[in-house]
Amino acid sequence: DLAGIARFAGNNGLTSIIDNTFPTPVNFRPHEAGFDLVCHSATKALNGHSDIVAGVVTGSAELVEQARSCIKLYGGSLDPHAGYLLARGLKTLALRVRQQNANATATARFLEGHPQIAEVAYPGLESHPDHARAAELFDGFGSMLAFRPADGVEACERLFKRLELPYVAPSLGGVETLITRPATTSHVGMSPEARAAAGIRDDLVRLSLGIEAAEDLIADFDQALVTA
Ligand SMILES: *Cc1c(COP(=O)(O)O)cnc(C)c1O
Repeated sequence: DLAGIARFAGNNGLTSIIDNTFPTPVNFRPHEAGFDLVCHSATKALNGHSDIVAGVVTGSAELVEQARSCIKLYGGSLDPHAGYLLARGLKTLALRVRQQNANATATARFLEGHPQIAEVAYPGLESHPDHARAAELFDGFGSMLAFRPADGVEACERLFKRLELPYVAPSLGGVETLITRPATTSHVGMSPEARAAAGIRDDLVRLSLGIEAAEDLIADFDQALVTA
């Protein structure tokens, strides 16, 4: 209940802050829901081309000035070329995110109907427990999905070797589709027990959809998901 959280903070003298990296402002605008500060990893979809490391914070001039003071003290500042790349990337943000929404929806549907896939998690699928909530909150369901092959970790590794379009790499939100196994990348620092409690099994695959043609992505998964 994001609007409820922002309202609670406002009524109790708290500053509400939300990380909007995954939805991007194309799919969700937290200030409209009442949040005071919104941060994004601009490394991801805002830049969109996987070639800078940057961040963004938006809000009232007064609050953003406080963040600016911290940045001055900590010393992290964007070099001009990275700033130029981010400004250029932003111009196509809406086009890229709409294509990513469409690619993720098409790929999720394809994977959900495939006999060698045990489970697909994407809020755009009617089968997702939070589908109705996501449809209410967001203008699009985003670029990220997760799935588990029916045949475990070995099937994951086989799939990664056979896929021709997705890069096996972390990060997300770029123009190219990226595929990883969180147990060995983003969540490798957690204990196996903590991962299990969070629903991150060893055979869970994370996919960040890029802007390729959906039919090319589906054809690639179709050829890569052959048995043995
Ligand atoms: C990647 C990421 C970050 C960290 O951003 P960097 O630009 O890599 O430092 C923060 N929040 C979310 C949700 C992210 O995906």
